[in-house]
Amino acid sequence: MHLSFDHITIDPVNLFAQKNIAVSVVRLDKIHTVISGNKWFKLQRYLEDADKLNKKKIVTFGGTYSNHIVAVAAACKMNGLASAGIIRGERPKLLSHTLVQAEEYGMQLHFISREDYNKKIIPYSLQQDENYLINEGGYGEKGAFGAAAILNYSGKDFTHCCCAVGTGTMMAGLIQAVSPYQKVIGISVLKNNFELEENVRALTKNARKEGQIIHDYHFGGYAKHTPALIHFMNDFYRQTVIPSDFVYTGKLFYAVSDLVKNNFFPAGSRLLLIHSGGLQGNDSLKKGTLIY
Ligand SMILES: *Cc1c(COP(=O)(O)O)cnc(C)c1O
Repeated sequence: MHLSFDHITIDPVNLFAQKNIAVSVVRLDKIHTVISGNKWFKLQRYLEDADKLNKKKIVTFGGTYSNHIVAVAAACKMNGLASAGIIRGERPKLLSHTLVQAEEYGMQLHFISREDYNKKIIPYSLQQDENYLINEGGYGEKGAFGAAAILNYSGKDFTHCCCAVGTGTMMAGLIQAVSPYQKVIGISVLKNNFELEENVRALTKNARKEGQIIHDYHFGGYAKHTPALIHFMNDFYRQTVIPSDFVYTGKLFYAVSDLVKNNFFPAGSRLLLIHSGGLQGNDSLKKGTLIY
């Protein structure tokens, strides 16, 4: 398994010069082909904590297509820790690509009913003192602290930092890391997830500023997509050679293009878009849907 933070680049995107808007994309997807870029950052502090407390196994929650699950499995393998994933629903006959990969990295999968999952019930066999629990999606203060370090790789010259938002942990980290004159804009990939504002606020209690979450670009909900989104992702790739995924970064790039078109950003703005990875999610699309 190869991990390299040296591979992160900041790619200028020359699509909105007419509007006098400069855009660059920080390519966390280049850290690893399978494991989402932002997940490495979010996991960092949890792994340090587990090590300090002498824990032997990381336990976490996730769905069938969870980038977080694969990232935890891989990070544990690299750090010599055992890992267990508590997965929503019954074990399917055919495991998703994501879960196969998690097992290949040595993760034990425990399937629990949707009801138990919603209550975040930990199976008895995993309730041991030597286990360390990480929330679904890495949500929490340590996750946000870890994510704040993304901006160490991003340059400082921007007016707005834009990212895709699931649990809001990465966004919370970015809010804490930007300068007072910089804004953080989050694009929610879930439908009507209006708890997000509160969830982000809970992780940014000490920051003197808030971000802005936009809820209009979910394309039907989490992991849902439309022909317009797929068309856009192919077009964006043709113009920039930057691949995106249909769950997170495709929606982010679409949203930003649309917001620029609608003059959401003042002329002269310099946008930094976080390419948070997630490209493995595209494996669940029919072959040929995307041109990359
Ligand atoms: C998990 C993930 C996100 C969302 O991060 P949160 O901290 O949960 O908001 C965004 N992009 C990609 C590619 C992800 O895998």
